[in-house]
Amino acid sequence: MLSKALDLTAPATLPGTAAAPRARPAVRLDGVVKRFGAVTALEESWLQVEQGEFLTLLGPSGCGKTTLLNLMAGFLEADAGEIFIGDDLVTATPPYEREVGIVFQNYALFPHMSVAKNVGYGLRVRGVPRREIAARVEEVLALVKLSGFADRSPRQLSGGQQQRVALARALVIRPKVLLLDEPFSALDKNLRGAMQVELKEIQRRLGVTTVFVTHDQGEALSMSDRIVVMSAGRVRQIGTPDQVYRHPQDRFVAGFIGDVNLLPGRLEARAGERATVAVGDLRREVEADTLRDCATGAAVDVFVRPDHLGVRPAGESGTLPARVAALVYQGSHIDLHIDLHADLRSGPMSGGRVVVRMPGHGALATYAPGSPVALLVPQAGLVAFPAEPGSPNGQAGRTGSGQDDPAR
Ligand code: ATP
Repeated sequence: MLSKALDLTAPATLPGTAAAPRARPAVRLDGVVKRFGAVTALEESWLQVEQGEFLTLLGPSGCGKTTLLNLMAGFLEADAGEIFIGDDLVTATPPYEREVGIVFQNYALFPHMSVAKNVGYGLRVRGVPRREIAARVEEVLALVKLSGFADRSPRQLSGGQQQRVALARALVIRPKVLLLDEPFSALDKNLRGAMQVELKEIQRRLGVTTVFVTHDQGEALSMSDRIVVMSAGRVRQIGTPDQVYRHPQDRFVAGFIGDVNLLPGRLEARAGERATVAVGDLRREVEADTLRDCATGAAVDVFVRPDHLGVRPAGESGTLPARVAALVYQGSHIDLHIDLHADLRSGPMSGGRVVVRMPGHGALATYAPGSPVALLVPQAGLVAFPAEPGSPNGQAGRTGSGQDDPAR
């Protein structure tokens, strides 16, 4: 019964990449632009959301994610370009005719209506017969684990339960696309984690095409088939979580997705798709693509994640000389803050400190602040970009933040 009404038998084929091309994308934006007076909230953007895909719009506050979502929903009118949902050109179609389900950050439930009335609202305005509404509401409430809550008022629900009602209300109309704008940001951390897993499960079961807005990198990495990384009204990179995490196309993406260290280096040579960079006495190979505008001999910043680095006894060959500055207890791991040797801290941008993430607690007994160590820089997981004056080269463990887009 449930599977029939909600079409739970729909194939949950989510390859997660654009590598499995489909005949018709669920959503297509062709050269869409949005301006608010002098502010270009969205520069000319081209984007396809595949059928059944979970696509996340990720970027700092003010980068244009909500604008992009609202253009898909029909709450905003594009200044240029075209928007398609399925085969339909919807650029000028009002929201209620686009057959999209929308979930907002603040739930936006009708306070005077019961849970069942809230969930059934979209069906009532579409003229669905009452008995069918009752059945579909019951089914979708079961799906979001709120059976038995139908007669409650939203005031009698926790934040997490209210957000489930909002999700049920969006799903009950069987939308062509589900649009979610930071739906979990008002929830506490534990609940947020649980809701992320549940939403993903529901999305997989239904196979519903989903566009999800967040400024939370972890949320984007853990839930998405593909991520659209945005900054200053521009799409910077579109890729699977692994592509944007391990193969960022520019400095912004490299710094925004997860914690990162910058090591000062120099471009030594380039051969086809690979390049050799020198960091102190070390030579490491990186992809040449991100250094295409860089002259041989020029300064580069080598980006490396804290969990890719290692620490060895001082003096070990094939390492960089360093000294322990601090150990920071993080529960499941220890962050070892390490100062590189002074020779590696010359240069205009270096602070010379890196963070090494060590699983478990062994580091607490092994290392003491002030002791000399050797920094192990493996071959894997390095990405280099031309050095930029004023960039925070050498800043330790920079974390991408959800703060206002610095490029704005
Ligand atoms: P947040 O995460 O804070 O919601 P966002 O990435 O969703 O940010 P948008 O809300 O899309 O960003 O805003 C993009 C830019 O457009 C910002 O500079 C914002 O100030 C501007 N903007 C958005 N809506 C309007 C509006 N109605 N009038 C004028 N400027 C606007």
